[in-house]
Amino acid sequence: MKFALIGAAGYIAPRHLKAIREVGGDLLAALDPFDAVGVLDSYFPQAAFFTQTEELEAHLEDHPVDWVSIASPNHLHEAHVRLAFRHGADALCEKPLVTEVAALERLKALEERTGRRVYTVLQLRVHPALLALKERLDRERGIKEVVLTYVTGRGPWYLKSWKGDVRKSGGLATNIGIHFFDLLAWFFGPAEHLEVHARTDTVAAGYLALARARVRWFLSIDPSFVPEPQRSQGKRTYRSIAIEGEEVEFSEGFTDLHTEVYRRTLAGKGFGLEDTWEAIRLTEAIRHKEVGGGAFRHPFLE
Ligand code: NAD
Repeated sequence: MKFALIGAAGYIAPRHLKAIREVGGDLLAALDPFDAVGVLDSYFPQAAFFTQTEELEAHLEDHPVDWVSIASPNHLHEAHVRLAFRHGADALCEKPLVTEVAALERLKALEERTGRRVYTVLQLRVHPALLALKERLDRERGIKEVVLTYVTGRGPWYLKSWKGDVRKSGGLATNIGIHFFDLLAWFFGPAEHLEVHARTDTVAAGYLALARARVRWFLSIDPSFVPEPQRSQGKRTYRSIAIEGEEVEFSEGFTDLHTEVYRRTLAGKGFGLEDTWEAIRLTEAIRHKEVGGGAFRHPFLE
């Protein structure tokens, strides 16, 4: 399988390079306007590298690929998926695939027209502990009470970068939260009611009623929300999903999930537009919902 990679100089790009190598793929070309891409030497030293999109497109005309992997900023994903399709390739695109439902609809129409397919990276869905939990939850009945807390400390750079710009990243719930909203919808079915209790540059929180759960959720990039004693141990990340008061343990086993997503995608079992639809619909709604009261607040807001 021949690949091209868009966004090769970024933070997440090495996971794609590693995954492409581990599935036995070959990287023919890489693109990034930022040219600090020495990392390519560790994986695919022969790969052609371009800083201009036009150069990549010209190269692809003579050296077609089967797949374009996309690890660029969120607001460019749709354009980069279109680029892949134009060159007869399928696309494997980072999360969030896009930031609004209208873009999903456009890509769906494009898939139908071109016969090409786009898949996304929802790596929590291949995490062994979460797969086991999903099987258990599918067997159980009733409405679960859930408290979801995700604090992942980021320095001042975050708000200066595209990630802190809601027009580019989609904002905190989209950029940081999408994995968790996807997980919730996967576990408990579609959202029926949404409240947003806080929405700032560094915090998003609210309440969500899904078909089979009631969820108080809290997301932040401010490390001061990491609870003691973790904070006093120097931890800047805190991840907790409590279902009926029972903590879901999934702190281990994160390292090779991109490779697993690649394996599944190449085997025809990737996560496509329909799979990511609900999380994108939900995070788009969180972006626009009026911030207001509500009885079911996350404990961190008390
Ligand atoms: P980053 O800013 O470190 O990297 C993005 C790269 O894209 C940069 O090197 C930038 O120069 C490049 N870029 C900008 N404009 C471009 C263009 N027009 N063409 C090609 N490249 C361009 O960000 P990141 O953290 O690596 O995030 C990249 C993507 O991966 C985002 O969609 C993000 O949401 C996603 N991501 C996913 C996970 C995960 O857990 N699956 C984790 C982090 C990031």
